[in-house]
Amino acid sequence: MKCVICKGSDIQNKMIEEEIKSGRDIVLVALDVLVCMNCGERYYDRNTMRKIEDVRSRLKQKDLEVEEVGKVLRAV
Ligand SMILES: [Zn+2]
Repeated sequence: MKCVICKGSDIQNKMIEEEIKSGRDIVLVALDVLVCMNCGERYYDRNTMRKIEDVRSRLKQKDLEVEEVGKVLRAV
């Protein structure tokens, strides 16, 4: 497999934390994705996409267990 962005071939499986917005909050979801080591492009397979969609819809229904790990702050 080659990266469609940079044509690099160093693509590895990595655990990442995807940020999913929920109103004013951001929910981090641990995902196992393929990442281009050269440019950082992420490749999601069908299962991963489904997991993200699942988290999104459960967030909407407030049916997801989450824990607060910090705050997102904005400089003023
Ligand atoms: Zn790349």
